[in-house]
Amino acid sequence: MTDKKARTVKAFVFIDALGWKQAERYDFLREELPNRRPVEMQFGYSCTAIPTILTGKRPSEHGHLAFYDWAPDASPFRAMRFVAPFLRPRSFWRRGRVRNVLSRLVKRAYGFTGYFQLYSIPLERLPKLDYCEKRDMFAPGGMGPIPNLADTWGAQGLRWHVSDWRRPEGDNFDIARDLLAKGAVDRAFVYSAAFDALQHDCVGRDEALRPKVEAYADRVRSLHDALAASGRPFELTIFSDHGMTPLRGTADIPAALAATGMVWGRDYACAVDSTMARFWWLREDSRATAEHALADMPGRWLSRAEMEENGIWREDCKFGDAIFLADPGVQFCPGDMGVKPLRGMHGYDPRDEDSLACWLSTAPVPARVRRVCDYFAAMTE
Ligand SMILES: [Zn+2]
Repeated sequence: MTDKKARTVKAFVFIDALGWKQAERYDFLREELPNRRPVEMQFGYSCTAIPTILTGKRPSEHGHLAFYDWAPDASPFRAMRFVAPFLRPRSFWRRGRVRNVLSRLVKRAYGFTGYFQLYSIPLERLPKLDYCEKRDMFAPGGMGPIPNLADTWGAQGLRWHVSDWRRPEGDNFDIARDLLAKGAVDRAFVYSAAFDALQHDCVGRDEALRPKVEAYADRVRSLHDALAASGRPFELTIFSDHGMTPLRGTADIPAALAATGMVWGRDYACAVDSTMARFWWLREDSRATAEHALADMPGRWLSRAEMEENGIWREDCKFGDAIFLADPGVQFCPGDMGVKPLRGMHGYDPRDEDSLACWLSTAPVPARVRRVCDYFAAMTE
C-alpha cells in the first residue's frame, strides 16, 4: 500500500433497506455524494446480505441464507425435544412478547453472540433445525474460517472501527464521528438498521419516511464535517443491502401443505420465510405432492441455474433441496417469520426494481461495484 493510500481515510455507512428507489425519491445527499449507482441485492434477506458485505463471499460459501435450516443431526436445539411437547397451550407460546423473552433465554443458554430470534418457528420443530447466526459476525474471527472486514483491515495494518450492531444507531454515528474527527481511525464501518424496520411498517408513506431520511442526511453530513475537519484526504460512502417492496398479497403455504396430508419431519421439511419456502424432501414422492399443492400459489420454483447465479446453490443442500420464491410483493403468511403480513417486505427476485440497493459516494464508484457481494473488495482494496 502506498503512503498516500494509507493516508486516505475511508468511511462506509450501511443503511439497511435504503434502496435505490428510496435514495432517488428523496434525493438523498445528492450534492454531498454525487457518485451514485443502483446495485443488485444479494438474494435473501439482511441476514444474508450482512455476512456477504462483511466477507465478500456469497451464501454458497459463507453458509448464511435464512436463519433456520433443516439439520436434524446438527441442531443445537436437540435437547429442546424434551421440553417442547410440554410448552402448551401453543397459542400462548406463539405470542410475540413470550417469544421475545424465550429468545433471550435460549440465546443466553446456548451462549450465542450473534443476533437471535425465534420469530414464529413452531417450537416442536426447533430440535430439528439449525440457526445460522450463532456468532457475532462483525467481531474479529466472527465469520471464521473466512476472514471478515475487521480481520482484513487488521491484517492490512489499518486502524479500524466497526460499529457495535447491538447499540442504537445514533450512538454508532456519534462514536464514528468522534473517532474520525480525532483522526483516530483509517477505516470505519458505521452500521444502522432502523430504516429497515420503519420501511417494513411504512413503505410508501412519505410523511413517515421523509423525516427519517432527513435525519440520516444530517448524521452523514456531520460525519462529512468530521472527516473534513480532520485535515486528511477522505472518502465517504453510503451503501445498502436492498430496497423494500410494498405488500401486494399473501399466500398461506402451511395450509396448502397441511391439505396434502404430508407430515413435517416425516415426509418433508420446510422453512417458510417471508418470501421463500425452502423444502427438504424426506420421501421420494414429496416433491411432486408439494409442487402440486403450490401450483396456484403466486410464486415459482427456482431452477438450479438461478440458484447458482444468485450464489445460493450448495452441494449439501443446506438451504433446501428446492426453493419456492414469492412473486414480488407477495408475503408467505402465516409462516415461520410471522403470522401477520407487513406493509413492506424484501427478499424477492434481485432483479426486481424495488429490490435494488444503492452505493452513494464522494468518490467515483469503483467499476467492480455492481452487486452487494462487490462491496467487500471495494472496502478492502
Ligand atoms: Zn428487513
